[in-house]
Amino acid sequence: MGKYDVVIIGAGPGGIFAAYELVQREPQLKIAVFEAGNALVKRKCPIDGKKVKSCISCKTCAIMSGFGGAGAFSDGKYNITNDFGGTLYEYIGKENAVDLMKYVDNINMKYGGEGTKMYSTAGTKFKKVCMQNKLKLLDASVRHLGTDINYVVLENIYEELRDKVEFRFNYCVDRLEIIEGGYRVFGNEQYDDCSKCIVSVGRSGSKWMEEVCRDLKIPTKSNRVDLGVRVELPAEIFSHLTNELYESKIVYRTEKFEDRVRTFCMNPNGIVVNENTNGIVTVNGHSYEDPEKQTENTNFALLVAKHFSEPFKDSNGYGESIARLSNMLGGGVIVQRFGDLIRGRRSTQDRIEDSFVRPTLSAAPGDLSLVLPKRILDGIIEMIYALDKIAPGTANDDTLLYGVEVKFYNMEVELNEHLETLHKGLYVIGDGSGVTHSLSHASASGVYVAREIAEASRA
Ligand SMILES: Cc1cc2nc3c(=O)[nH]c(=O)nc-3n(C[C@H](O)[C@H](O)[C@H](O)COP(=O)(O)OP(=O)(O)OC[C@H]3O[C@@H](n4cnc5c(N)ncnc54)[C@H](O)[C@@H]3O)c2cc1C
Repeated sequence: MGKYDVVIIGAGPGGIFAAYELVQREPQLKIAVFEAGNALVKRKCPIDGKKVKSCISCKTCAIMSGFGGAGAFSDGKYNITNDFGGTLYEYIGKENAVDLMKYVDNINMKYGGEGTKMYSTAGTKFKKVCMQNKLKLLDASVRHLGTDINYVVLENIYEELRDKVEFRFNYCVDRLEIIEGGYRVFGNEQYDDCSKCIVSVGRSGSKWMEEVCRDLKIPTKSNRVDLGVRVELPAEIFSHLTNELYESKIVYRTEKFEDRVRTFCMNPNGIVVNENTNGIVTVNGHSYEDPEKQTENTNFALLVAKHFSEPFKDSNGYGESIARLSNMLGGGVIVQRFGDLIRGRRSTQDRIEDSFVRPTLSAAPGDLSLVLPKRILDGIIEMIYALDKIAPGTANDDTLLYGVEVKFYNMEVELNEHLETLHKGLYVIGDGSGVTHSLSHASASGVYVAREIAEASRA
């Protein structure tokens, strides 16, 4: 049992940047970080493609948990924008949010990111080209660290913090209790007390976060779920966009239902990967900065947002059921050629092997129309044809669609402008708060709360 000034729960970008900023501003504070997953060096997914071919549902998922959080093996795209990635600006103001994202970028540069490229949509001709084709290109600057440099930055920040902050790995917090002057944090059959507590448990901690809010009577709002597919095609097809912008966030409003479909997480010359959230296998993607690790394909997600309110509120439950259905039919992720989808037939191993696009993820050939609701699938097909106008070849028969891709959003925790709950000194940041959905916003929220705490401790 210990007594701390600040306990941070979760060592994802939110938790790491909160710890980093507290150390810079108030080095005398006694700070602990409790993390359910492993230290960075010990994070290893057992899937090796030979002995272990698919997810074996480890106690804590090495991809989602541990130092670096869900972003540790990500593509390391830090988007500097209020247009997407979360609604932090609604709490702290637009200018402040962007300044904090830039501050995070500077730290990433200092700890190993120097030399990586910053892309921007400012002044690009593609804005007009998109508009002419019923598409909208969102504004952003994008720092692409790449999976490899992102890892180096995390290693270096850990080295910087390890002697100044107490890290406990494989330490899953079970419960929080309000005590006089602070909080009691229970985990691994023991407890610690702290004056201030920062909860930064990300998406993998969403169910636990719900329990905490229920126990401590913190109001919440249901959030949306994004459902769709990951598209994989030859890198040349999108190279004119990716060379200039790296990631283009493009939105399309469907003619049939007037739903919005958007591109998400674009990975030029990247790979498609499995993702495991609470035992459900979905699809994601990333890419490396190192040319030797790059592939001949580009991948990105096409997603449709769904938000349920009455009488059914469980948007995430809806997304989970659809992902489970794909897992039931395909034993994991399903892959289908666009041409097969349009012809109303499943893909087979032979058709995939005969295709001009070589898949970078081994997935079960199948039929996504048996998994995704018609409204969502129709929207995705419409958008593929719309994208084909600005990137001819997108609607080729051999374009691969992996399903399902689901973006679960945490329910939104009621917070004030300090990102503090109704309980004084209990802060919720990052994706676990439902306020952020990205590396840059989660990190910025950590810096913001650390500064709030530093200021209060000086007052
Ligand atoms: C494969 C992949 C690629 C991605 N690529 C990008 C990208 O390129 N750009 C981008 O902006 N975003 C990307 N994202 C999203 C991004 O990773 C998240 O938005 C970001 O990591 C959120 O940070 P966080 O600190 O809020 O939460 P997380 O990173 O999820 O960290 C939360 C941490 O809390 C720990 N935890 C949970 N519950 C407990 C508990 N009870 N006790 C102790 N510890 C607990 C977890 O183990 C985890 O390590 C990607 C996500 C994935 C999965």
